[in-house]
Amino acid sequence: MKVIIIRYSEIHLKGNNREFFESALVSNIKSVLKDFRYEFSRSNARYVIRNFDETLTDDIVDAVKNVFGVHSLSIAEEVPSDLNAISQAALKFLPSSGTFKVNTNRADKRFPVHSMDVSAQIGGDLLEANPSLKVDLYNPEHTVFVDIRENGKTFVYGETIKAVNGMPVGTGGKAIVMLSGGIDSPVAAYMMAKRGMTLRAVHFHSFPYTSMQARQKVLDLAKLLKKYTLHMTVDVVSFTEIQTAIHEKCPEEYMITIMRRFMMRIAERIAKMHGAGAVITGESLGQVASQTLESITSTNSVATIPVFRPLIGFDKDEIIEISQKIGTFDMSILPYEDCCTIFLPKRPVTKPRLEHVLRVESVLDVDALVDNAMQNIETVTIE
Ligand code: ATP
Ligand code: MG
Repeated sequence: MKVIIIRYSEIHLKGNNREFFESALVSNIKSVLKDFRYEFSRSNARYVIRNFDETLTDDIVDAVKNVFGVHSLSIAEEVPSDLNAISQAALKFLPSSGTFKVNTNRADKRFPVHSMDVSAQIGGDLLEANPSLKVDLYNPEHTVFVDIRENGKTFVYGETIKAVNGMPVGTGGKAIVMLSGGIDSPVAAYMMAKRGMTLRAVHFHSFPYTSMQARQKVLDLAKLLKKYTLHMTVDVVSFTEIQTAIHEKCPEEYMITIMRRFMMRIAERIAKMHGAGAVITGESLGQVASQTLESITSTNSVATIPVFRPLIGFDKDEIIEISQKIGTFDMSILPYEDCCTIFLPKRPVTKPRLEHVLRVESVLDVDALVDNAMQNIETVTIE
């Protein structure tokens, strides 16, 4: 019978919390498999999926390999622990050419043949079936794995498929990710979900200065992220009034600095409303004028909860590489304007002094502007 073996990672290190981590992982795996029929079981340090529609094997593997906490998968044959049956199954993984070896693990010590002898016998059968193969015990091109379990059954498989690793979503607390339409913030979201965080997103748009396509692009990015974050809700906040007020009343070189402070205040308010304990941004030190230490200091000083910036030490190239890997890059580079690009000063301050920012900002009725924005949130649940 064809089965899928799922191995998990890091979580086994968590001692007393193991049960908490495992139950999150199992429920996350089940949630990505909700449209499939299958049987799920635990056996020590791995899960096994049985009785699924074999034509959907790759779809199941693709879904599970993106679940954080999953270390690797194998598509295996499960047979009775009997040398003939094992050999028959091993033939299905017979390499067509090159060198190979058979690697046997005998978890069931009652099985009468030692693992070395099992490997030798199965290897012999494979050679007989394809005499052009060669055995190489030290550096084989292919390995056929034989795992003799305690329940009288044996798994035979040829390949280990790497999964995303990380910690199960739901085990790392909750955060609000500030999601723009750019390359960086989706990657930042991915990285914190990978540490087990449950995410909710906030997006600021300045209709009619920014288009409905720009808003839709962010919702589309959120949908791509949902593959990893498992659920995704986006609070779309209208930023037009705030931007207009800053534009009218503050020196233009402080536009971005002050805008950022408003975004952070609103993100934190939303965090508190939903029991989230942190805000996540896609900032990377020195990438642009608003990401110098002084600019970050000015934005950070309005926050009272932790702000996570998982990309702070990354080069743009490295961020792009991750965005390609996780599948958000092509969407991120669609050319729709972000609200940060309107009223853009010719010469933004790169090293705003906090006292100065506070003085410049003091002409605004900050609380009223924030309250207003909070009253005009459109909440979109991504299906
Ligand atoms: P990104 O690629 O994520 O857009 P960026 O390189 O364009 O980042 P900035 O424009 O300085 O950098 O934005 C820094 C961070 O501020 C973003 O990564 C994001 O977390 C947040 N941010 C910027 N604009 C918005 C927006 N319109 N809505 C929500 N968050 C935003
Ligand atoms: Mg941007």
